[in-house]
Amino acid sequence: MNMHLLRLSLGYFAISMLWLLASDPLLHRLVPDTGQLQAWALAKGTLFVVLSTFVLYLLEHRHLRRLAAEQDALRLKESSLRQAAAVFDSTLEGVLVTDSQQRIVHVNPAFSRITGYATDEVLGKTPGLFASGKHDANFYRAMWQALQAEGAWSGEIWNRRKSGEVYPQWQNLRSIRDERGLVSHYVAVFSDLSALKRSQEELDQLAHYDPLVGLPNRLLFSERAKQSLERARASRRGGALLLIDLDHFKDINESLGHSLGDALLQAVAGRLQGLVQPGMTLARLGGDEFALLHEDCSADQAAALALRLLDALARPYRLQGRDLFSSASIGIVLYPHAIRDVEQLMRNGDSALFKAKGSGRSTYAFYSQELTSHAQQRMELATALRQALEQQQLRVHYQPIFHLASGTIRGVEALVRWEHPQHGPISPAQFIPMAEENGLIGAIDRWVLEQACRQMRQWQAEGRPLEFVAVNISSRLFGHGELDLQVASILADTGLAARHLELEITESAVMQDPEAAIDLLQRLRQLGVRLAIDDFGTGHSSLLRLKRMNVHKLKIDQGFVAGLPDDREDAAITRSVIGLAHNLGLKVVAEGIEHDFQAHFLLDHHCDYGQGFGLARPCLPEAIDWRPRALPQHQGCR
Ligand code: C2E
Ligand code: MG
Ligand code: MG
Repeated sequence: MNMHLLRLSLGYFAISMLWLLASDPLLHRLVPDTGQLQAWALAKGTLFVVLSTFVLYLLEHRHLRRLAAEQDALRLKESSLRQAAAVFDSTLEGVLVTDSQQRIVHVNPAFSRITGYATDEVLGKTPGLFASGKHDANFYRAMWQALQAEGAWSGEIWNRRKSGEVYPQWQNLRSIRDERGLVSHYVAVFSDLSALKRSQEELDQLAHYDPLVGLPNRLLFSERAKQSLERARASRRGGALLLIDLDHFKDINESLGHSLGDALLQAVAGRLQGLVQPGMTLARLGGDEFALLHEDCSADQAAALALRLLDALARPYRLQGRDLFSSASIGIVLYPHAIRDVEQLMRNGDSALFKAKGSGRSTYAFYSQELTSHAQQRMELATALRQALEQQQLRVHYQPIFHLASGTIRGVEALVRWEHPQHGPISPAQFIPMAEENGLIGAIDRWVLEQACRQMRQWQAEGRPLEFVAVNISSRLFGHGELDLQVASILADTGLAARHLELEITESAVMQDPEAAIDLLQRLRQLGVRLAIDDFGTGHSSLLRLKRMNVHKLKIDQGFVAGLPDDREDAAITRSVIGLAHNLGLKVVAEGIEHDFQAHFLLDHHCDYGQGFGLARPCLPEAIDWRPRALPQHQGCR
């Protein structure tokens, strides 16, 4: 029994008994002769004292028990708080607590370790301090919605450390509500995922990349090839697989040692990588076999690429202090034509490679014989084109451009011609794309530009009232940012005023990189030259872009003029282009006018200029018929 309680009860009992004994003489005095009454009163008093002591004892006992229970609960709470604090301090996960206004009120040491922020640097701030900029507003909105609706959210989130480094963390968020059900705090518990991600990347690197040369391995290459096949099927565009195998690598490896063999493979990978462009995947399949996947690639482009690769690999190597010579063979397969899957693609690549090795090595072969010979013819032509430039087999013809309303020649378009000594004239439609592939186009366009400017100067000296000479600019040269410098230097050399030169740029050239094109057009305009969009209607330029291109003229593609006036669509497009151009303050040239009725239609619809075999064919400068003519009865030089 509780001693305190015992003492308390005994004390009360003793005091009551004393009081009873003291009160006995008093009772005796009041009721002097009733001994019975006295005894009864004493007994009743005693009983009262005993009972009240007992009741007091019970009450006090209950009170003390409650007190003890409360103390126990307090002790328990303190102990669990101490445990929680220990967990809070020692856990490896970062913990951050905010109040309901998202102001940070607590962080633990792991928080500081992960984020780099000390406690006093963040208290009172909001977690917005750690925003990485990697997530958009929708992400945070969805997170808060989940938190409001379910009271919890967990997921991967990218934050920013104090050092500025952005890192991924796994985060559990919880809202804490008070007894009234209102949110009083938010608790975030998070772990740093960057080490995990890094090791995943390392594993990925090991599984998918070749350790010697750092290129994708066969596994990754197969995955990429599979995706590329699917894309090619969906877009109806073709790609090419080039399997590259070093000639006699085994001999080098065995005679000169594996370390030199490895060094050679690394050097080969480096040279191949130097030729890889966007849209290509290069891989090492194993041993001395490499593979290159080129999306969106024609047979001619694949052959040109193969030649460039062979050239690059045939240059001597300087490795470990010695000179080494090597060469390679390449097998080419075009896809998706009749290719079902990656296995078939690789099999066909192997047999093409086998064919290339069989025909003397250091060469390439297509899977199909037809393609091999076609590509070889094209390559021979490409070599011949190189000589054509040197041996001056190229000529510039000029086609008059008429002011339709007056019938006078206002300008001429320079069109290049190739007079091949054996094959006769070759159309630019045939050799310009080839020159664009093998890089000769730059030299050709510069040469034509210079010829045209000189010729224009001569016409001016002869007193011809020509306003402009138009020169075609290839998308390749156009894509090269220095076109304005080249034009300026040719104008300076030839002494032609910039306003007499018109550059024709195709719509598709502009669309390859519209922003860069708009920039270049602006610089050309500043030089003072005129600008025309050639083959207008065949590209996909938007009206907005057309306005920003700030050109002087649109040339309606001859494909639309051919259908005039009966083809309703061609007629509608032609009318709209004329209307659109005039609304934007541009002049319009119709190309490919072959018949009177086409010229009539164009005149009726206020087309400014016309060009075509029906008016005058392209010819050498001395053959041009300069006389104004009543359109459209007259025919120019033929
Ligand atoms: P383009 O710039 O659209 O040139 C007009 C083409 O249409 C020329 O073909 C011209 O001979 C032809 N043509 C003109 N009137 C008619 C006609 O009434 N009917 C038909 N069917 N055709 C007509 P060409 O000379 O064969 O040139 C073809 C393309 O080659 C040119 O198209 C141009 O894109 C390109 N090209 C020509 N010369 C050069 C050049 O010096 N540099 C560059 N980069 N490209 C050039
Ligand atoms: Mg043109
Ligand atoms: Mg054209």
